[in-house]
Amino acid sequence: LAERLEEAWKKLKGQDKISKTNIQDALQEVRRALLSADVNLQVVKDFIAEVETKAQGAEVVSGVRPDQQFIKIVYDELVEVMGETNVPLAQAETAPTVVLMAGLQGTGKTTATAKLALHLRKENRTCLMVATDVYRPAAIDQLVTLGQQIEVPVFELGTDTNPVEIARQGIAKAKEMGVDTVIIDTAGRLFIDEAMMGELVQIKNTVKPHEVLLVVDSMTGQEAANLTRTFHEKIGITGAILTKLDGDTRGGAALSVRRISGQPIKFVGVGEKVEALQPFYPDRMASRILGMGDVLTLVEKATEEIDLADAAKMQEKMLAATFDFNDFLKQMRLLKNMGSLGGLLKMVPGMGKLSSDQLQKGETKLKQTEAMINSMTMEERKNPDLLASAPSRRRRIASGSGYTERDVGSLVSEFTKMRSLMQQMGQGKLAGMPGMGDM
Ligand code: GDP
Ligand code: MG
Repeated sequence: LAERLEEAWKKLKGQDKISKTNIQDALQEVRRALLSADVNLQVVKDFIAEVETKAQGAEVVSGVRPDQQFIKIVYDELVEVMGETNVPLAQAETAPTVVLMAGLQGTGKTTATAKLALHLRKENRTCLMVATDVYRPAAIDQLVTLGQQIEVPVFELGTDTNPVEIARQGIAKAKEMGVDTVIIDTAGRLFIDEAMMGELVQIKNTVKPHEVLLVVDSMTGQEAANLTRTFHEKIGITGAILTKLDGDTRGGAALSVRRISGQPIKFVGVGEKVEALQPFYPDRMASRILGMGDVLTLVEKATEEIDLADAAKMQEKMLAATFDFNDFLKQMRLLKNMGSLGGLLKMVPGMGKLSSDQLQKGETKLKQTEAMINSMTMEERKNPDLLASAPSRRRRIASGSGYTERDVGSLVSEFTKMRSLMQQMGQGKLAGMPGMGDM
């Protein structure tokens, strides 16, 4: 019956493979979301074409609509393209680490310089900020004021010295002071011009920075792509800071910057205050970018259904006799993914009272079990009964995993007991498990 139901379900929901036709609406939805998030048009086109090709012919998890699964693939790809995890600021082997800030005027370079210095100070790293924007006297004052506010020294030589020379002396000063990191704030123009780029290149060649961070105003929109291309071609950036994300922009610039330069966004600015700096997290940004319309809700739903479909398959297996050590390992990893065992058990009524000692033991046991399963051959994992009466196999597993034969023996007997208990449940001999009676 279950199989027939599944077939009917599939027909109802569409096909079991992703094809050009069954994802048309989803494609349209994703395109619209990316564009209204201000991702550059060309970047959108390329990205979607790539994901489409990747998804073509992918098996659809039963019970999930192909278009939903496609959107989930888009979301995962978006997270992957943006780097998956946060990339921290580089740190030179021998101090000082030199960070060069670049970007157009008004994007938030000076503010980001101070924010970054404060961020590092909180990590007990010492900083020197260098003011090289000699074109606007107010710019130097701005950095000096920020420096006083966050108690970080500022190196400046007024407006009469050449910026390259200021930067050079700034580094010398930093070495003399023995600080950990020097952050060089630079001048920007309202548009990209040869003079500005020339000066930046010269500063770069002089100070040999470990990081060149492009500061991009997230409200720049589509233009962020061209901007990034030019800066990256001319000076070579190692990362970016996306500012003004506290506004209502969707942050599509993040995708453009990353795709065009291949370099990670390292921080985001979320306000005018010096504390308003956060590490960049690709998954959060992907959610934000796709957050237009209903796309994100669809992602959540698809994820839920995919998880459910997985869980249902596992449940079926557990109840049948085919549950083996591989499934067991999978279950354990799932448990691990959900957070620490302690955190998980605290949510279960009546389990909160377990002492930390007991929890510790539980986690140790999980680790031990995983190690032992890892030392089994594929054949043994698939057929746990092989281990029931084979001391030589158990001995090999024990020495491979660093545990005793008795440990292996009790794992095998516990597993066998659990499996037969589950089988009994499957045959309805044990009642009381919710949702299992009516399968
Ligand atoms: P610079 O010309 O690149 O040095 O830009 P500034 O650091 O002087 O910043 C320009 C303006 O943007 C200032 O008014 C800042 O307060 C503001 N600003 C900078 N970063 C942020 C941010 O993350 N959020 C908001 N709302 N404003 C910011
Ligand atoms: Mg400035």
